[in-house]
Amino acid sequence: MIFQRQKNNTPSNTSARSIWSEIALDAIKEGVVITDGKGVIQFANPAAVTFLNVSSAVDVVGLDSGLFLKLESKGGQPFGSNDNLFLNAMTAGTPLENFQCYLVAQKTDKRMPIAISVSPVNDGQGTKIITFRNIAKELEEEGAQTEFISTASHEMRTPVASIEGFLSLALNPQTATIDDRAKQYLTQAHEASKHLGNLFKDLLDVTKLDDGRLKPRFMPVELVGTVKSIFDTFSARASEAKLKYQFGGVNSDMVNAKLVQPLVYGYVDMSFLQEIMSNLIDNAIKYTPEGGSIYVNVLGDGDRALINVTDTGVGISADDLQHIFQKFYRADNSQTRTIGGTGLGLYLVKQRVESLNGKIWAESAFGEGSTFYVSLPRLSADEYGKRLIDYENQRAAEMMKEQSMRAEAAAAVAPQPAPQPESAPAPAPAPAPAPQPNIEQVTNTTLTTEEQHNE
Ligand code: ADP
Repeated sequence: MIFQRQKNNTPSNTSARSIWSEIALDAIKEGVVITDGKGVIQFANPAAVTFLNVSSAVDVVGLDSGLFLKLESKGGQPFGSNDNLFLNAMTAGTPLENFQCYLVAQKTDKRMPIAISVSPVNDGQGTKIITFRNIAKELEEEGAQTEFISTASHEMRTPVASIEGFLSLALNPQTATIDDRAKQYLTQAHEASKHLGNLFKDLLDVTKLDDGRLKPRFMPVELVGTVKSIFDTFSARASEAKLKYQFGGVNSDMVNAKLVQPLVYGYVDMSFLQEIMSNLIDNAIKYTPEGGSIYVNVLGDGDRALINVTDTGVGISADDLQHIFQKFYRADNSQTRTIGGTGLGLYLVKQRVESLNGKIWAESAFGEGSTFYVSLPRLSADEYGKRLIDYENQRAAEMMKEQSMRAEAAAAVAPQPAPQPESAPAPAPAPAPAPQPNIEQVTNTTLTTEEQHNE
């Protein structure tokens, strides 16, 4: 039934509104499901009926939405107890926007990628509106884009590295003689090529993290010492920038010039932790003017380890603070405009922290400074000890396997003596032995940490 709209194009009364609503709900491609306060389905529009693979809305009304909307993670695995953000939002009655996951159809078990949202209705009864849409096409386009960026960055990194290398040679008085003006131009070109190199590295990391090629290799780690040693690698830069640079907090003590602080154990990927901390400390140095201070600390906080990187630098406005973990986001103001960067660092940090099952957030006051917090799952000393033994056993087994593979590879390329026919005449003088492959070439298959991740 088509309802005649009034001249001002607004429905004239409540029944008209309800007719328009019905027309809209019937026509849209998004699935819409309405539940009561207990999560029991009260309504499903035709698109939802199709998505759920049932004959009509009657088949789903009265059923528990959590059970009926069978969801799996983006990686195609059933959700862990805390990862199903849809269920969490339904239970807590909190909004959820565009959570990407798979919807498993009834009967056929066919999986479809969807983005699902939950909007609690403010009616005092706990009513919720669930909407979801098929994102197969979006994911396909994203995949093609990622593939392109990945290939392009990979191809461009090599020439950029060579440009950077030659510029370094040109700027080195031991390898080249240039006048002051040329030095000035080449220094700028060198800075630009370093920036480009960083951008390609970040872009490659983004594509690898986005499509799951860069996976963490977990190991048990004592976090205070580990973070402190990463912190130490930046102390020269901090003093060059004339900053006060301090590790440890109120709970730490200096005994005989040594830091004494309770140990905190975690289970992390070392190269991920290195990237996370380096990025946060690098930013703190970058965004803190001369005379400012930087404090880094690691604390045990119940079953979490809490790391903070605090600076007294330019700070971040409340508007920017909401966006700084997004891809390519850079706060653009008079304080930051002259400071170089790609806007990818914090996005990568967040991706890495989350893949370590951690959380990251920032607190800041514009013009006063910022604190970035990283919270990671913490291990007890006992658990750390056990996992360390397991890890070392596993490493030993991997090394033995690697050694036997090397030996096999070396044997496969060694020259085999030719079979001698029984009635052969006297053997000709043996040919000069074929050059043996350099054993290092055969065995030099040890991958960098990053390459190992890509396997
Ligand atoms: P960039 O390469 O621009 O530094 P990031 O992703 O690391 O990119 O950071 C995003 C933006 O967040 C930065 O451009 C900057 O505006 C802001 N930011 C990050 N860290 C700090 C900090 N410690 N102090 C002030 N602003 C910061």
